[in-house]
Amino acid sequence: MKVVLMAGGKGTRISSVASDIPKPMIKIEEKPVLEHEIKCLKEHGFTDLIITISHLGNIIVDYFGDGSKFGVNIEYYNEVEPLGNAGALFKIKDKLTDDFLLINADAIFDIDFNRLVKYHKEKGGLVTLFTHPNSHPYDSGLIISEKDNKVLKWLTKEDERPAFYQNRVNAGIHVISPEVLKVEINTPKVDLDRQLLKPLAGSGKMFVYDSPEYVKDMGTPERYYSVCEDFKNGIVQKRNLRNKQKAIFLDRDGTINKYVGFLRDINQFELIDGASDAIKKVNHSEYLCIVITNQPVIARGEVTIDELNEIHNKMQTLLGNDGAYIDGLYYCPHHPDRGFVGERIEYKIECSCRKPKPGLILQAAKDFNIDLSQSWMIGDGKNDVLCGKNAGCKTALIGNGIESDLNGNSLLDLINQII
Ligand SMILES: [Zn+2]
Repeated sequence: MKVVLMAGGKGTRISSVASDIPKPMIKIEEKPVLEHEIKCLKEHGFTDLIITISHLGNIIVDYFGDGSKFGVNIEYYNEVEPLGNAGALFKIKDKLTDDFLLINADAIFDIDFNRLVKYHKEKGGLVTLFTHPNSHPYDSGLIISEKDNKVLKWLTKEDERPAFYQNRVNAGIHVISPEVLKVEINTPKVDLDRQLLKPLAGSGKMFVYDSPEYVKDMGTPERYYSVCEDFKNGIVQKRNLRNKQKAIFLDRDGTINKYVGFLRDINQFELIDGASDAIKKVNHSEYLCIVITNQPVIARGEVTIDELNEIHNKMQTLLGNDGAYIDGLYYCPHHPDRGFVGERIEYKIECSCRKPKPGLILQAAKDFNIDLSQSWMIGDGKNDVLCGKNAGCKTALIGNGIESDLNGNSLLDLINQII
């Protein structure tokens, strides 16, 4: 599969870090970002590259040449007139006869590209977007999907957004079919997001690929320095899903949000003080942060799946406002006992996912390639601790009275002990 790396951006906001070189040539641990990207692609077997260049592009050409020194084959497309970030694709479309990877070269990443491409083929769409939660969803564009991961809405920064939303942002890595380039565009400049991709929202032909792998742009000096730190600490590389992951699994009610009994009303959902700080700390560590929760209110017929999703959107929005995010969320909608008014019979079963059973954690471990013996389950109740033990995790309890590996008085207290 061919790879197109878009390296033509100007990157003005980061000019205080480096102003006389193109953004993809900014160094992390002595090597240009673009070199790290190329190395990652090569390791996954992607060696046929086209780099689109403009601003100071000769510096890129001088450094990488035909790619042979780096074990890859590189062609360039040099934009003389500014074409927007996607105009160059139309100029090279004769070379793009099959599905290709399109990557914004301003970001540092380490991802399992073969896993992404496999997913794209399984879905069979025209476009697969690599999406992830980030630490600033409030000023990022958002991708809203349907249940089967089809993109329903593409909200740019300036679009009005719902009060509560899932923290899901386009990371600038895509698998694209050449079919997409058959569209008629009459402007000299072409904007990838607004003119090519956004119009596919709601068509059923564009899919999200949610991943916790490391992809960060370096749009501001602050973000650049934080990326350098993560690279040095090995976090960028460790998050590649080819590698075994470590996770911190969190109970929801009483651990992240204030315990109110069965939470039926979204207005009752409030974060516990310190929960965002705790989760933010996990986000900056090598651990994934995954919520594991029993929600028998579904089986009891008190909350619909849509209402529960909205409650979870509220959780993600509140966390996002504080710069924190979760990498995954699994809930059990079941309850075993029948015979209540208004209950939903289809969820009244003896399942394998209701805590203390380990089903949800085992599913997460499968989805994210997690080493459970290196992972933690944190909660405020007996079922959380037992669930963690049943899954083979270490366990931490908010409060005491139940035997666990660690005790503390809040989520933040426990996270400070673990990390
Ligand atoms: Zn269940």
